[in-house]
Formats: sequence, C-alpha cells, structure tokens
Amino acid sequence: MPHVITQSCCSDGSCVYACPVNCIHPSPDEPGFATAEMLYIDPVACVDCGACVSACPVGAIAPDTKLEPAQLPFIELNASFYPKREGKLPPTSKLAPVIPAPVVRRGTRPLTVAVVGSGPAAMYAADELLTQDGVRVNMFEKLPTPYGLVRAGVAPDHQSTKRVTRLFDKIARRRGFTFYLNTEIGKHLSHADLLAHHHAVLYAVGAPNDRRLEIDGMGLPGTGTATEIVAWFNGHPEFADLPVDLGHESAVIVGNGNVAFDVARILTSDPDHLAHTDIAAHALSVLRESKVREVVIAARRGPAESAFTLPELIGLTAKSDVVLDADDHALVARDLASAADPLVRAKLEILSKLGDASAPATRPRIRLAYRLTPQRITDGRIEFTRTGTDDCVGIDAGLILTSIGYRGKPIRDLPFDDDRAVVPNDGGRVAAGTYVAGWIKRGPTGFIGTNKSCALETVQSLVDDFNDGRLTDPVGGAGALAKLVRERQPKVVDAAGWRAIDAAEISRGEAGDRPRLKFTEVSEMLAAAATAPKPTVRQRLLAGLRD
Ligand code: NAP
Repeated sequence: MPHVITQSCCSDGSCVYACPVNCIHPSPDEPGFATAEMLYIDPVACVDCGACVSACPVGAIAPDTKLEPAQLPFIELNASFYPKREGKLPPTSKLAPVIPAPVVRRGTRPLTVAVVGSGPAAMYAADELLTQDGVRVNMFEKLPTPYGLVRAGVAPDHQSTKRVTRLFDKIARRRGFTFYLNTEIGKHLSHADLLAHHHAVLYAVGAPNDRRLEIDGMGLPGTGTATEIVAWFNGHPEFADLPVDLGHESAVIVGNGNVAFDVARILTSDPDHLAHTDIAAHALSVLRESKVREVVIAARRGPAESAFTLPELIGLTAKSDVVLDADDHALVARDLASAADPLVRAKLEILSKLGDASAPATRPRIRLAYRLTPQRITDGRIEFTRTGTDDCVGIDAGLILTSIGYRGKPIRDLPFDDDRAVVPNDGGRVAAGTYVAGWIKRGPTGFIGTNKSCALETVQSLVDDFNDGRLTDPVGGAGALAKLVRERQPKVVDAAGWRAIDAAEISRGEAGDRPRLKFTEVSEMLAAAATAPKPTVRQRLLAGLRD
C-alpha cells in the first residue's frame, strides 16, 4: 500500500524530511527540485508509514488504496519518476540530507526583521527566522487579512491547497512574531521607518500586477485579465466591484498556464459545487446566471510547449469536459510522434485522448486551442493569426481574458529591473539591511512551496550580514514601533483581530456548508477585527518586559 502524491502537491519539501527511508524526490538538495512540477514517492521504497501524510501541509498525500477515482492516474505518475524495478526494496534508515537553518549569532540586540507582505514567501521567511531563539519578526500587510495569494489567488475549488494556511497560522503564533495588518508600507510607514526600527527589511510582496497584452482592443468592454477575475472570485476587496458579464455563450482566455486553467474551470463548474467552497458570494451569484457554454484556452505555441503542469492537466480532465478540435488533435499527434521528454509525452498522451470539439456539448466545456497568436480585439471578437503564418482565425466571445502571467511592480526606495519586473538581488540581498523573497525576487513562477527554499536562501544572506556585523541596531524596542504604527495607522489589525475575522468568516459559512463566507469589504473586516478580545493587563506587562 505505497503512498501517492496527488494534484495539490505544493513542493515545499516537508514530506521529504518526514520520510524515514528517503523515498520522496526530487529532494531540496537535488538539482531538479527548483523546477519540478511536483514531488514523487518511490512505490518500491515506500514503507507505508504515513509520516509524509502528517507532514504535508496541503493534504496532497494518501495511500494508493484511498485515492478518489480522479486521483488514480497519480499512482502511475509517482512511479514513472523512478526506474522500473520488481518487488520491494529492503527498508533503509536513510534520511534526506537536511539543509541546515542559518545560525544567528548573538548581537548586542536580538535580530529584529520587518517582513513586508504575508503570502507564502513571507510566511516561509518568518518560519526560517523564528527557528532561532530570540529572533523577532514583525510582518506588515496592507489588507486586514493575511496570506496573500493563498487567500486571493488559489482557486476556491482547490480547498486542499488552501489548507497551507493552517501551517501559516502556526507560524504566526510563534513567540517573536507580530502581525501589523491593514498597514501599508509606502503609505503609512516608509522603508526608512522600517529600517530604523529593525536590523533588516525583507520584502515578500509578490507580483501584484498582470502582464499586459499589447494588442488593439484590450480595454474594450468584455476584455480583462485572468488575474483580475481570480481576485474577483476570491473576494479580494479591491476587485469585489469588477464588472464581470457572463451573459454570452463563449469566452476566450489567451495563454495556457495554470492560472488560465483555474479561471476556465471556475467559469465552467457547476455553481452548486462552487457553493460549498469559499468563493465570494458576489461571484457565485454571477456564475449562477452565467450563459457561458464554452471557454477556449488559446495558446500561441503548440501542444508540446503547453505552459500548464501535468498534475493540473490530470485534475482538469478528471473533473471538467475538455475537448480539442480536429486540427489541434493533429498537432498533438504530430508532437507525440517526436516528443522525448517523459513529462511532455505524458501531457500529450492525455491531450490525445480528449474528446472532439465537433461533438455536441452536454454541459459547459473547455476547448484547448493551439498555435494562435493574438492580433486584435474588436467588439465581441478576438482575431489571431495561425502562429508562423498569415492565416487568420477569429473567435466570437463575450468575455476575452488574457492570462499571460503576473508582473512585479516597483517598490518605493528600492531598485527595479523593468525588463524582468523584479528587484535586482544577489541570493535575496538587495543591499545590507534590505532583502527580497518570492516572486519579487525571482519572477512569477513556481508553486506555494517553491517559496520555502527561496525564502531560506534570502534568510541565509540576511543572517550572514547580521553575523558579520553589517546591520545597524534598531533605534527603539518593540513598544516604540507599535506606538509609531498606531500613530500612522490607528486602524492597524493585530493577530487577535485577524483571528476574529477568521472565526467570523468560518461561522458565516457554516449555515451554507461552506469552509468560510469571506468578507469582501475592508470595513466589514475591520468591524469583525474590532470584536477581538483586548490584551489583558498581564499580557501587556509581559510584552513590555520582553521589549
Ligand atoms: P505561466 O505559467 O507563465 O503561463 C503564461 C502563458 O501566457 C503561457 O501560455 C505563455 O505562452 C502565454 N503568453 C505569454 N506572453 C504571451 C503573449 N504575448 N501572447 C500570447 N500568449 C502569451 O503563467 P500563469 O498561468 O500566470 O502562472 C504563474 C505561475 O503560477 C506558474 O508557475 C504556475 O504554475 C503557478 N500556478 C500554479 C497553480 C497550481 O499549481 N495549481 C495555479 C496557478 C498558478 P508561452 O509559453 O508561449 O510564452
């Protein structure tokens, strides 16, 4: 009964270190780890102890006998990462080599770090820093709710992936951790303010913008970006009022990465199923009235160059009706005849078995289309050329979305590489005292767990600078910072406030059998935060003593 890693694998490597026989690869010390689409359990070496199940923060691992039918392809996918062997390997006591946490040497003052942003890169950076006694992390987030794209980017029908917030909640409860939510750096506090009150400032602000497609007609009514729609159906307060018109039968998404899949799935899902997720109430109402029957995902290159990952393709084709037209089936067959990479072959084999678009649809469906280079949008129509030719292909659509990647935006007082849309850095170090992690450091690629090794590298650079005496001691203690923040942002939300928002959302969801019913207005969030119990005199005294 070997264990199997399934679609929601976040690649943070927690399972690798829990495994007593080192049968999960690639491990963080191995070359393919940074680019792997997921991790794989060797069925011949697995001793079925289940340690990986408890370690996985997103519930992606199960024994092969407990998989749902849609997950069965993952048995073969895990096995295919390893050479074929017969029987079982004798159990070993080999462990994956642990990458040591950076050791902080004692300075005159305990290492104090401001982390800006509260998504996965920020939380993993805090986790690494707080492995050491005495370190303090103050985390600043402009929304009253933390966890960045896990809350506002992961699709609502991927609740298992959102489970990583339980790990983040644990990190936020660690000694030395303080939340300053609803506090925007660049508005309420400056980079200089943070530097004055900390040894170091670490920006993990992600890539909040989207890459824009520069063709005529973008901006017309009915056009938009997938990232905006993702934020809208996830209840991000800045996108709650996005005008989304689903009153037409056809939608087109340009680009075929995992974000395009997320949007196409939500647009074609049964709203009764979505009603049991944490989808925003406003989005669910619009989806209930939707007339969309087909979402075309248009890629400029061929099937072998598809940007989506294999686990997501397996997940999509198991649950949604996905088709190709005859020309695209021919392209898949052509690519399959010459593809050597096993991962690409596996994707092509799944594509080759998809239904034909000429068959009548019985429910809203997704069509994958290839070799379409977007040229212009007119009212209700997008025109492409067949890539590499002058042949024109037009698709009528009431909704035309681009899904061509996220893009980082400049941070005030920091350098910016406009071509790559990242802050230039060396192993996360921008300059002594200023650091970056996550998408603003390396660009918008990878999975939630990719940020763990990314954050570790940055924390290593930061700790090296601290140990070598390159960082300046903060001017005041924690009390002085808290006072400054309150002066500049009286509506700051702390950890207790976030827990009150969290509890209120979960409780609002119970009646509808939903994991939570999100607040989508900042004012509602602040009202819920205000119900949090105030710190007792004893807690305030203890905090003062620690300062
Ligand atoms: P992505 O994977 O980089 O895909 C971007 C797509 O846009 C590609 O198909 C690309 O085509 C296309 N594109 C770029 N410029 C274009 C242009 N000018 N005209 C037409 N097409 C263009 O981006 P993403 O989907 O936003 O995903 C971002 C990251 O988040 C990825 O690492 C993804 O795996 C991750 N993510 C993961 C999950 C999950 O695991 N469930 C969910 C969401 C996102 P070319 O390939 O031809 O450049």
